[in-house]
Amino acid sequence: MRVREYDSDRFDRMRRIDWLDVDRMQGSNCLVVGAGALGNEAVKCMLLAGFKRITVVDMDNIVVSNLSRCVFFRENDGGRNKAEVVAERAGELYSEAEIIPVASKIQDLEDWDFDIILGCLDNISARLHVNSHARYHKVPYIDGATDGFRGKVQVVLGEGPCLECGMNSSHMRLMDERFSCTGGGSIFVPKIASEITTTSVIAAVQVRETMKILSGRTDLTIRNVMYYDGSSGTMQELEIPEDDSCPNH
Ligand SMILES: [Zn+2]
Repeated sequence: MRVREYDSDRFDRMRRIDWLDVDRMQGSNCLVVGAGALGNEAVKCMLLAGFKRITVVDMDNIVVSNLSRCVFFRENDGGRNKAEVVAERAGELYSEAEIIPVASKIQDLEDWDFDIILGCLDNISARLHVNSHARYHKVPYIDGATDGFRGKVQVVLGEGPCLECGMNSSHMRLMDERFSCTGGGSIFVPKIASEITTTSVIAAVQVRETMKILSGRTDLTIRNVMYYDGSSGTMQELEIPEDDSCPNH
């Protein structure tokens, strides 16, 4: 059977979405902060969608309990650094990918010259660190979080409300505490409930918003937070006002 010409283009079906800028996505320099459950799913989607240049930051090592949610990890990876293993396996999904692993905490990252940042973190202090650097360098930031069957995605653009704006109101602070482990930079991080289906949904939404932004379609992005409840199968969008007292503006 003859292979049709359009079937020899890996991204043919994506190119049929007329507003999607596949070439720009492929040429973008991306940062994924966190190579745990959300980070694994986000990088998986990005590689399949043709993203090539991704820096992945994580200081943690792999443990057996990660295996229920992390597509890049294998049973004998215990004790290895998460970011390094994701980088090593990325080529199995997309041979042209150039993943740069950074096996340290995000606070140690010095270069913030990126086109987009995806936050796949598990605590508020790291999120606020990424948020302030993203704002300072005017890089769009897509923050994802899950708690059991619930999750949220917040889109922070170069202007408008940021992650910290939302946290300054008591309502949002309560919401965010549910999705964070520490609530304020303590070293002990209690483990929150997590399973793969909600992780997949949230990471996929993060990558989808990334595709919109890099295709120049910020008019389509979530304004500003999307809450997902997997038990009832519902999603809700919530607009956040810009907070005049927020230090990032
Ligand atoms: Zn703000």
